[in-house]
Amino acid sequence: MKYDVVIIGSGLGGLQCAYILSREGYNVCLAEKNPQLGGCLQTFKRNNSLFDTGMHYIGSMDKGQVLDNFFRYFRLSGRLNLRRMDENGYEIIQYGEREYKLAMGYERFVETLLSSFPKEKEALSQYIHKLKEISNSVDLYNMRDFSGQKTGYLDYYSVGINDYLDAITTNKTLKNVLLGTSPLYAGVKNRTPLYIPMIIHSSYIESAYRFVDGGSQISDLLAGYITEYGGTIMKNARVTKLLFDNQSLKAVEINNSERIEGKYFISNIHPKSMFDLFDNAPLRPAYHKRINSLEDTFGIFSLYLSMKENAFEYINSNYYVFKTDDIWDGDNYTQENWPKGYMMHISPTSKSDKYTDAIIINTYMNWDEVRPWEKTVVGRRGESYKAFKHQKAEKLLDLLEKDFPGIRSKTAAYYTSTPLTYRDYTGTYKGSIYGLMKDFNNPLKTMIMPRTKVPNFLLTGQNINIHGVIGVTIGSVLTCAELIGTENLLTKLRNA
Ligand SMILES: Cc1cc2nc3c(=O)[nH]c(=O)nc-3n(C[C@H](O)[C@H](O)[C@H](O)COP(=O)(O)OP(=O)(O)OC[C@H]3O[C@@H](n4cnc5c(N)ncnc54)[C@H](O)[C@@H]3O)c2cc1C
Repeated sequence: MKYDVVIIGSGLGGLQCAYILSREGYNVCLAEKNPQLGGCLQTFKRNNSLFDTGMHYIGSMDKGQVLDNFFRYFRLSGRLNLRRMDENGYEIIQYGEREYKLAMGYERFVETLLSSFPKEKEALSQYIHKLKEISNSVDLYNMRDFSGQKTGYLDYYSVGINDYLDAITTNKTLKNVLLGTSPLYAGVKNRTPLYIPMIIHSSYIESAYRFVDGGSQISDLLAGYITEYGGTIMKNARVTKLLFDNQSLKAVEINNSERIEGKYFISNIHPKSMFDLFDNAPLRPAYHKRINSLEDTFGIFSLYLSMKENAFEYINSNYYVFKTDDIWDGDNYTQENWPKGYMMHISPTSKSDKYTDAIIINTYMNWDEVRPWEKTVVGRRGESYKAFKHQKAEKLLDLLEKDFPGIRSKTAAYYTSTPLTYRDYTGTYKGSIYGLMKDFNNPLKTMIMPRTKVPNFLLTGQNINIHGVIGVTIGSVLTCAELIGTENLLTKLRNA
């Protein structure tokens, strides 16, 4: 059978493209290598606790806010079980032995930080002004026509967040507090464009929500709608080859055997992993070379704590904890001083309003640490790998115990993952957390467009546009607009 569109990978981007195109009348086939859909939206259960693997919280979901506007079209608004986070401090930045709260709402954000930084009113006002300016500059973020290729936001893509903050304040602590969520965008001091943290922050400052019982709600709902619109979803269907014919892509090969033909194809997988699937692709070597030369964002070690029943009170804020003066320094560690900090996510559960049964701790881990097992697969990495993870988990738990005394005794069991786990579950290159790194020194080189030189082959997902729920959603719209037209799609979005 020949489909109108074949989509490779069911991450948020793949699912959203399958949703848009099947809703708009295309005959779509979505091929996912895993038994569970969703990529970073996947959840897993251990010891009766449910853990998210990637998506922990989402922003701007109040009625009429940016993500809510998009999610109305995706039939997700009002259908997700969400918990609104603490308005007075949905993020807590622990830096230099003190805690600083990042509050929801522009005015409350400024007022809250002013209590710790009374002389920094001007800097904080400038910061908020810039947040608004940047989010207003992105046409699609505001559902404005972007087909004229307006590039207002490019100005913010060629400036670094670090340089920008240096320009508005000389207060080192305030600067580090404003950079406190840098793990959320895999920040790198002299690389990260101002645009990325500002778009992400502007989404959360409007409103921040956690998923009750996991982010896979999104993939479950989208998969149901795709099927309802007549789309085909194939699980356990690893695309093993992309079969080109002269100037176009003709078919994909699934699990080294079945061929699925299509008129158009969309890849939702990491571009470097995609190149491994090419069979005589009519793409210039320069394209491969450019993308292969790009660096990836860092990898992480995750510790999943299954908590004893009614033992650990739910905290409605994320913790970003730094044990170093320089918050840019997290991935520059030795065996002795690892970890230099961590991010702590406390999961809400429908089992209890007062207690949590699942806590996730993420911290930096360089690929070199797991390189000895790079040729192994999940569940078969051997005893040395288990010992390595155990030693890391114990070290991280020791640190946690100092910050949250008693957390060890309230933990029933723990589980771990490394960059190898992410590589094998999501196919992301070397387990990088958010795929390719964006770099303000060379913005055009690190910006990946949905369109490729092969006319019937498009890209989507976190490597085009930016990562995260808002970045990937905008990316999906950009990709699908190539097929169904910008104004047409925008009208549908606005009217949803
Ligand atoms: C630890 C972590 C925490 C995060 N926290 C947040 C958060 O709190 N809020 C937020 O907004 N964002 C967060 N993100 C980012 C967000 O989850 C991702 O940016 C987004 O989900 C990526 O979507 P994607 O469409 O690029 O696809 P991915 O999630 O990368 O999925 C790609 C899919 O393709 C499949 N695939 C790969 N190769 C093949 C193949 N050959 N054949 C078939 N299928 C294949 C994979 O199995 C996978 O399902 C987090 C990410 C991580 C890793």
